[in-house]
Amino acid sequence: MDPRSDCIDFINPATGEKFGEVRMTTEEEVMLARREMAAAQSTWAAKPVKERARIVKQFQRVVIDAADELTAIVNQDHGKSRGDALHEIVMTVDKIHQYARLSPKWLGRKRIPPGIYFFRRYYTERVPFGVVGIIGPWNYPIDLMLPPIIAALLAGNTVVVKPSEVAAATGVKLEELFRRVPELTPFVRFVHGDGRVGAALVRSKPDLLFLTGSVKTGQIVARAAAENMTPFLYELGGKDAMLVLEDADIKAAAQWGVWGAFYTTGQACVSVERVYVHHKVYDAFVAAVLEETAKFSVGYSADIDNPYRMGPLTFQRQCDIVNSQLADAIDKGARVLMGGRQTGMFIEPTVLVDVDHTMKLMTEETFGPLLPIMKVFDDTHAIQMANHSDMGLSAYVWSRDLNHAKRVAEQLQVGVANINDTMSHYPVSLLPFGGVKLSGNARTHGAGEVTQFTHTKSYAVGAPPHPLDPATMVRYPGHYRLGKAILGLFFGVTPQQRVEPMLDYLNHDPQGQAVTRAAAGVGVASLVGLGLTALIRARK
Ligand code: NAD
Repeated sequence: MDPRSDCIDFINPATGEKFGEVRMTTEEEVMLARREMAAAQSTWAAKPVKERARIVKQFQRVVIDAADELTAIVNQDHGKSRGDALHEIVMTVDKIHQYARLSPKWLGRKRIPPGIYFFRRYYTERVPFGVVGIIGPWNYPIDLMLPPIIAALLAGNTVVVKPSEVAAATGVKLEELFRRVPELTPFVRFVHGDGRVGAALVRSKPDLLFLTGSVKTGQIVARAAAENMTPFLYELGGKDAMLVLEDADIKAAAQWGVWGAFYTTGQACVSVERVYVHHKVYDAFVAAVLEETAKFSVGYSADIDNPYRMGPLTFQRQCDIVNSQLADAIDKGARVLMGGRQTGMFIEPTVLVDVDHTMKLMTEETFGPLLPIMKVFDDTHAIQMANHSDMGLSAYVWSRDLNHAKRVAEQLQVGVANINDTMSHYPVSLLPFGGVKLSGNARTHGAGEVTQFTHTKSYAVGAPPHPLDPATMVRYPGHYRLGKAILGLFFGVTPQQRVEPMLDYLNHDPQGQAVTRAAAGVGVASLVGLGLTALIRARK
């Protein structure tokens, strides 16, 4: 297929209606975008961080002004309610606000202690990579696109962005918003299309790649990026577990576990995808879950006052995954206690029991409204099951005893552990977020999201080497004893280690040169002074 002639249709998943299209960016256009961003980067990077932050604040104003336009587009594009889309905007703007405010501090120069090389100054600066390629998913088409773009820009990079083809209308809208800030427009380019355009962006050799997407795409992009040794940051899939311990508040665990499983139709990377419940509270928990699930009305509305708790799945591939996992589980003995039926792109919130890890829905990402519940013997069993996953994004632990919950949470192989709630860690704009194992190597939220778009450049600054500086003296031959004196004085563990090599050095005059002695004397005296100061400081 020739991408040149291809268009991506904008389809409302709830109604099936086509509401627009965008032409796919060609390979040549992707390469051109990358070259243009490379040419523009030094101009952007030359602006002080505070100036970049000032320009980013203009974009923040534009996003707030465009909130209604954005929620309308996301509602059509994705199927989520206007309210849920607004929640995305709030999370996004919170991050933009914090990053613009704190980036000058995060990206500022850092003094480095000189160690024993105290006649010069040392410091680090954060240097942008250059051109960052950002490839995004469809499930949070604002919040998973704008914060990394803004973080990369604040760090001094220019950016080529490829939004998901499944939320292409939102991608086009975001591009338009950047055009509303003329001071920012020259430093961001959007390319539109499916995985082929994403692959072209990888081939265009950006200086850094940032992908949010599935594990499968992450693996493909990692291989392609390796061809050019392009550094690659990735935020991939989740299979988040919820653990209901014996002493949990069952009603609250059921209420928020159901919400965590079905919010945005289960299409969040941090959705509750599997639940492990202590056998003593299992029956009570399952009964409470069914009661909560029954309240989950399903439907679609384009109004800001949407009455439904759950909307459609966003595209056919998600329906296929959910249905195939459901069929696989039922085939292997699972029982559906509620839901399971599909009408159009709507699948009912579905609760399953009698599940185990031979079933795909317990080990592979579902990204849909399935809530499988498994009985466990004790905490050890729950932890073992939760950790039995290739992925490790977030996990949820329920217990009335916070120390108990913490002890369990500490043993979970995840990037974020949330105690007595579900998904509520994600909106906290400065709490580092990201996964372990196949779930990713990047961190969003907070300083790490901005600084990961830089590398550290170190500076060593001062006058030319001074002849009385012991660090200069040891560059010449014949200073073995001086080297040992320095070793002992600064790093000696016992008083003997500290003093003996110094006395040996002072008593020994290998070259018999008065000048060397005098120089060494002054040098050693200063060494002793500074060494003692360092020791006194270390003891304080
Ligand atoms: P996806 O992997 O299908 O697509 C992600 C992006 O990669 C899209 O823009 C797509 O066009 C592009 N792409 C596809 N093939 C490519 C290729 N060969 N080269 C370059 N780019 C290519 O993922 P999705 O369905 O859009 O998103 C859902 C996935 O994202 C889920 O697995 C979810 O868990 C994950 N996700 C993770 C996080 C996180 O923070 N860890 C957040 C949200 C979503």
